[in-house]
Amino acid sequence: MKLLITGGSGFIGSALVRNAIALGHSVINVDALTYAGNPDNISGISDHSLYSFERVDIRDGGRLGEVLEMHRPDAIIHLAAQTHVDRSIKYSSEFITTNINGTYALLESVLHYWESRGNDEKFRFLHVSTDEVYGPLDDEGSFTEHSPHRPSSPYSASKAASDHLVNAWHITYGLPVLTTNCSNAYGQYQFPEKLIPKVIINGLGNKTIPIYGNGKNIREWLHINDLVEALMRVLSGGEVGHAYNIGSGQEIANLALVEMICEILDSKFPDRNPHSKLIQFVNDRAGHDFRYSLDSSKISNEIGWDPSIELSEGLMETVNWYLANDNWWKPLCENAQ
Ligand code: NAD
Repeated sequence: MKLLITGGSGFIGSALVRNAIALGHSVINVDALTYAGNPDNISGISDHSLYSFERVDIRDGGRLGEVLEMHRPDAIIHLAAQTHVDRSIKYSSEFITTNINGTYALLESVLHYWESRGNDEKFRFLHVSTDEVYGPLDDEGSFTEHSPHRPSSPYSASKAASDHLVNAWHITYGLPVLTTNCSNAYGQYQFPEKLIPKVIINGLGNKTIPIYGNGKNIREWLHINDLVEALMRVLSGGEVGHAYNIGSGQEIANLALVEMICEILDSKFPDRNPHSKLIQFVNDRAGHDFRYSLDSSKISNEIGWDPSIELSEGLMETVNWYLANDNWWKPLCENAQ
């Protein structure tokens, strides 16, 4: 299959690109290379005969149309987005234009292209969204695919809007779309500003580890390899027009998660114990949702996907990767200063 992946130089996109190439698919990576897009994430396959790269901003419908005509993909997997909630609170404009206008420009270009293919029934547009669109939960319950969208942050509101656009392009124009709403992902090549890499990198550098509020906010953590497998399974086996939650079922409070990482660092660098002494509580994030939790029984029952990587195992592997790859993250941290 020929896949056009937007945002293929980011954290999840690059893992998806590597996986798709390994499975023998052709991949066209469409990415604007923002601060979060990094060619090093796919350096291992950048010369591969199945891989091509187009530096395009998804807000540029004209360029998207040219790229679609030139490469004629069989499916689109849409990940390009502004993704960091903290940034969305400070600089919401990029989130609105990229996540909403960019998704709109992409949908219009893809619709035109799909119609030029005679409304090919086998064509797919897979939209990668987040559990954050559902808004906060209390201690009890989980979101199903029928839960209403109640986003709290500029990031989650912009992603919720993009979900609605994708759904509308299916209902109104018949575009064969699929949507996934996944929980927090973690693993190799995640940009240092995100929670898990930040804790690892600050712990390694003996720097304070900031935690919002009282650290009791709960998130569900999914290993990148499990997520990539789920996305490929939804692409090939999902029912057109449907959304699929992708969660690990492994919920943990932020403080407990940070303490788990500190314990891994303790085991590796006992002379600096305990790393948890670096934890510092800071003023809570504005609009900080208390808990997210996904009911992922639909993807399990209908597609047969279940997560396979335990959080403790995945965290150990992730810490080991950041330890072995400081040449990847150190320049990113220096540039961010
Ligand atoms: P990321 O920030 O690591 O990567 C985003 C990529 O999109 C980068 O390569 C960036 O250059 C590219 N991009 C940004 N704006 C662009 C534009 N205007 N045109 C073209 N490319 C642009 O993000 P990620 O963590 O890999 O997330 C990928 C997708 O998955 C996003 O849509 C995000 O909302 C969704 N998601 C992520 C998580 C998570 O935990 N990381 C969880 C649920 C959903």
